[in-house]
Amino acid sequence: MRRAIVIGGGLSGMLAATALVPFADEVTVVERDVMPRGPQPRKGLPQAKHAHVLWSGGAKAIERLVPGVTDRWIDAGAQKIPLMSGMVAHTPQGWYRRWKKPTPHYLIACSRDLLDWHIRDLVLQDPRIRLLDGAEVTALVGDAQKVTGVNVLANGAAERELEADLVIDASGRGSRALHWLSSIGISGIRERTVDSGLAYASRIYQATTRLDNFPVVNVQAEPRGSHPGQAAALIPIEHGRWLVSLSGTCGGEPTVQNENFVPFALQLKHPLVGMLIAQATPLTDVVMSRSTGNGRRYFEQAPAWPEGLVVLGDAVATYNPVYGQGMSVAALGARLLGSELKQGGLREPSLAQRVQHAIARPTEEAWACATALDVFYPGAPDQKPTVTDRLIHRFGNRLAKTATGSAHVATALTQVTTMEASATRLLWPDVLLAAACGPLKPQLQSPPLTPLEQALLNPAPAH
Ligand SMILES: Cc1cc2nc3c(=O)[nH]c(=O)nc-3n(C[C@H](O)[C@H](O)[C@H](O)COP(=O)(O)OP(=O)(O)OC[C@H]3O[C@@H](n4cnc5c(N)ncnc54)[C@H](O)[C@@H]3O)c2cc1C
Repeated sequence: MRRAIVIGGGLSGMLAATALVPFADEVTVVERDVMPRGPQPRKGLPQAKHAHVLWSGGAKAIERLVPGVTDRWIDAGAQKIPLMSGMVAHTPQGWYRRWKKPTPHYLIACSRDLLDWHIRDLVLQDPRIRLLDGAEVTALVGDAQKVTGVNVLANGAAERELEADLVIDASGRGSRALHWLSSIGISGIRERTVDSGLAYASRIYQATTRLDNFPVVNVQAEPRGSHPGQAAALIPIEHGRWLVSLSGTCGGEPTVQNENFVPFALQLKHPLVGMLIAQATPLTDVVMSRSTGNGRRYFEQAPAWPEGLVVLGDAVATYNPVYGQGMSVAALGARLLGSELKQGGLREPSLAQRVQHAIARPTEEAWACATALDVFYPGAPDQKPTVTDRLIHRFGNRLAKTATGSAHVATALTQVTTMEASATRLLWPDVLLAAACGPLKPQLQSPPLTPLEQALLNPAPAH
């Protein structure tokens, strides 16, 4: 029997299981939570209460791993929102235009519980994948040369050992990988943190409109200067609702009090999100999260690495959630796991180290994007911004400003933010030339809303 074990049944864990299954006789996913049988909340996924956008780079990777899942999301009420026409975004450089020219880029807008449920339901239809839920992995079994399984505690029974040819740690930002590795003799793994002290506050509203294709609305923060960065995002989700997330870095955090929610959104660089929700009916109280720091573990640079262990998803790195990268990086990582398995199967001795190196590529891309801005928040980085950081920041500002009036640069930026192209796309001659010329159209003075959307801001006076 070729056996694999996945620690954690979240998004990374389910995608890893489906990538593994062509190469294993049995894949066991061990999950601490008892999994709900539907798109319901669970304890191990507290971030699901906050806005989650899935960029097309990630959505396409998930569709390749779990065919049919996009249709399931859409049938259940998710929206596939075209970029750039479906986004109203206020950046520090001004409003982005909703360019009409179609692009292949989009985002999936729905609740996180709905996204995860349809992935999980489809993945678990494969009889070779077994979910052991309500069970917790407590340690790795093996030594510094080879991991041969895990210890599991389930349903109050005594701890037992499960053997495997390959163990995947997909246990999220709370992963104990560093501790587990040190107990089998592997230490010295480099870590970095860039934490702006960002707090998230979210609340669900009944949408004030039944308009199809209502856009994602987003007022972005300015990550330079002495002020905290404050932002808001409104995501249309299933069942005609809006999921609104507000965020603020250290000193400018939103609060958990319901009565402060709309005022916070109204005092941002632009009050658009506040104006949209001021008349809307809230369906939930405000919930907060502070688990938002950028954190990276450089497993691929470890002085030694055991056979039989791969770390994936948030267990490798977490990113400031305002950039919406975590799920897409997890999906790209699971795809890379599948590609590396094709070379020599589950038992090939160099597999684990090769996968860890492969995963480092999308991880580093996302990390570089998120931290390029966040290093400028006071107290955020573990080291001061370097000259290179400042140059990258200036170039990024120039590109963003050009994108407000150039469809060409806006498309290139969208390609990169949706994780469909590497950031090196922004260094191609066509983009550099366009950035040198600057915006071709003048700045928009007000949000690019359609007349029907605009009418929501000016409700008819009551008689
Ligand atoms: C506020 C917020 C907003 C976000 N917004 C976005 C967004 O817009 N777009 C985006 O792409 N990403 C976003 N993210 C990031 C995204 O939530 C994560 O990247 C994603 O959930 C990572 O999935 P994962 O499977 O690696 O980890 P998780 O989702 O954390 O799953 C880990 C699983 O492992 C289980 N587990 C943990 N330890 C054990 C153990 N010892 N034994 C058994 N099971 C265990 C947990 O119960 C959990 O189910 C956001 C994050 C936050 C905090």
